[in-house]
Amino acid sequence: MYDEPIFLKPVFQERIWGGTKLNTLFNYEIPNDKTGEAWVISAHENGPSQITNGELAGQTLKDAWEGHPELFNKAVDNHDAYPLLVKILDAADDLSVQVHPNDQYAQEVENEPYGKTECWYVLQAEEGAEIVFGHHAQSQEQFAEMAKAGDWDRLLRRIPVKAGDFIYVPSGTIHAIGAGIVILETQQSSDITYRVYDYDRTDDQGNTRELHLDSSIEVTRAPHRTPDIKQSLTKQDGLTVKKLVEEQYFTVYHWDLAGECSQTRDADFIQLSVIDGEAELTTNNKTFTLKKGNHFIIPATVDHYHLVGHAEFIVSHP
Ligand code: ZN
Repeated sequence: MYDEPIFLKPVFQERIWGGTKLNTLFNYEIPNDKTGEAWVISAHENGPSQITNGELAGQTLKDAWEGHPELFNKAVDNHDAYPLLVKILDAADDLSVQVHPNDQYAQEVENEPYGKTECWYVLQAEEGAEIVFGHHAQSQEQFAEMAKAGDWDRLLRRIPVKAGDFIYVPSGTIHAIGAGIVILETQQSSDITYRVYDYDRTDDQGNTRELHLDSSIEVTRAPHRTPDIKQSLTKQDGLTVKKLVEEQYFTVYHWDLAGECSQTRDADFIQLSVIDGEAELTTNNKTFTLKKGNHFIIPATVDHYHLVGHAEFIVSHP
């Protein structure tokens, strides 16, 4: 039986707005200097991560989901596909202003299993960095009018961010990550994006990227409402756990380990990303070294594990 954590290798995606911080911050071997995204825990067909340890080494997380349902417990019965996707994004330049559909729209219009609700933990932000989060239109009609007129300065709602901030972005929310921001994103496993505005940018062939104004108008919630999320802080021995969000699709935590603690898996499976520091994880008499930039899953075949060290994690489960 496969009874150890499942370590995963990131898949990199080139983006017009990408940079080199995935290398400088995480030491990843990035393919070029416009690397925008590392898909670090992914079973999505557009970039499935590869397992690096144990009997399943070389298989993708998608293979494991399909071939080894015992690793994911009841999540396999409850979902059409692996439900979550974790990414790290390096925005050297502004991302396009965009919006994602909900499940129903994704299924009916795009023939995909999932829409996209996402959330961001800000790992690094330059002085003055901002995101777009929501808009100022009072109705869908007004949103359509202002978007068609290109009245972006009055339409878009901008807010400053700093390292450690957490932003929950339900489907239907207009959003964009601004230049100078590095985030860890936990989201539904979906790759459907409707681009509202791309700052009239062109690529090195002089082409602009496609916009999807009609779909955007259809799926955008108006007026904008900032969701109310209840956060909580608990301490278990050397581990301080901050619950960042608990909602329909995922629960996400920030873990701060200073010392040691014993953990019991309390979900079908758990996704962990080490965002700082170093630690050791022991389970079933095997010890694994964890360092910043490692991403892994505690599968349903691991009930208990022990952590020692000084590290920070972003942790999530469906
Ligand atoms: Zn998004």
